[in-house]
Amino acid sequence: MNRILVIAEHDQGHLKLATFAAAGFASKVCAASGGSFDFLLLGSGLAAAAEGLRQSGAAAVLTADSPELTQPLADRYAQVIADTVKARAVTLVVAAASTFSKDILPRAAGLLDAGMLSDVIDVRGEGNDLTFRRVMFAGNVIATVQLDGPIKCVAVRSAAFAAPAATAALSPVEAVAVDAAALPKFAEFINRETKVSARPDATEARIIVSGGRALKNAADFERLVGGLADLLGAAVGSSRALVDSGITPNSLQIGQTGKVVAPDLYIAVGISGAIQHMAGMKDTKVIAAINKDPESPIFEVADYGLVADVYIAVPELIEKLKK
Ligand SMILES: Cc1cc2nc3c(=O)[nH]c(=O)nc-3n(C[C@H](O)[C@H](O)[C@H](O)COP(=O)(O)OP(=O)(O)OC[C@H]3O[C@@H](n4cnc5c(N)ncnc54)[C@H](O)[C@@H]3O)c2cc1C
Repeated sequence: MNRILVIAEHDQGHLKLATFAAAGFASKVCAASGGSFDFLLLGSGLAAAAEGLRQSGAAAVLTADSPELTQPLADRYAQVIADTVKARAVTLVVAAASTFSKDILPRAAGLLDAGMLSDVIDVRGEGNDLTFRRVMFAGNVIATVQLDGPIKCVAVRSAAFAAPAATAALSPVEAVAVDAAALPKFAEFINRETKVSARPDATEARIIVSGGRALKNAADFERLVGGLADLLGAAVGSSRALVDSGITPNSLQIGQTGKVVAPDLYIAVGISGAIQHMAGMKDTKVIAAINKDPESPIFEVADYGLVADVYIAVPELIEKLKK
């Protein structure tokens, strides 16, 4: 029987959608192999976020609520996760694959002497004998792997698992005791710089308009990619070529070394479709590409392709959408 702990990810109380995909993974394991899952929410002032987790079929929503956990400092979070796992005899720790879990989950696995897998896209098995499938080498290899040991830690791709259906019954919320004095203090929070944007985050959006090297400067990117995105209520993304040349910030990069996304629609504007870029978006439901080179590799994965100059086609598209 699995006892599963799903680490709930949030940004200052706003739950990340990927958390529900992680719960979908946990539900799948429970349906196939028995057991139950709890959420673990870490931070401070968590009441509203905890409320948002109560209809996902968890046995309990555990809250580790302390001023010492206000910022997601990895050493402290990992310690609380490890303590909770030990106290509750958890066998499987699950988080959505994200920059948050990349920072925290391997440290928790280290504290627990547990094996850890990232980028998991499927799971099969019975009881504790689970077999996972995970993406490797920018999506070119799917590895089938098992983890030894009584405790396993996995980060799952949110595109691969659907959120559990909302339940009528509400999961109970239960506080986890946090010994603030015993928390590690290897890292200290100094400052947080965020850009406030009216646009959705690429990892949460249903539509992404993404720009590549065809865009010559930041003003053109904003006018064409940003302009099209705003008309569609979409997020914006970017290839690494634009990040490297300083035209777009790193936070917009999609790909192997950027964000991995799987929206309903991805519009690639002047992106060639390098393998490292596609590693971050090829699970999209519908891909549309605009590129002036008909031989561009992006057209091999695109459902809709337009061979055109983005400086001509995108303004036309924007005008038509405005009408
Ligand atoms: C280890 C490693 C990790 C990497 N990680 C990432 C990553 O996470 N994300 C990422 O994106 N890249 C990544 N890269 C870089 C990747 O290999 C490519 O260099 C990059 O994706 C290319 O970006 P691009 O498609 O915008 O530019 P290009 O490959 O230069 O393509 C530009 C495209 O625009 C078209 N074009 C030009 N002008 C116009 C126009 N006026 N109208 C229409 N079309 C036009 C061209 O035909 C071309 O197809 C990584 C590379 C390495 C080695």
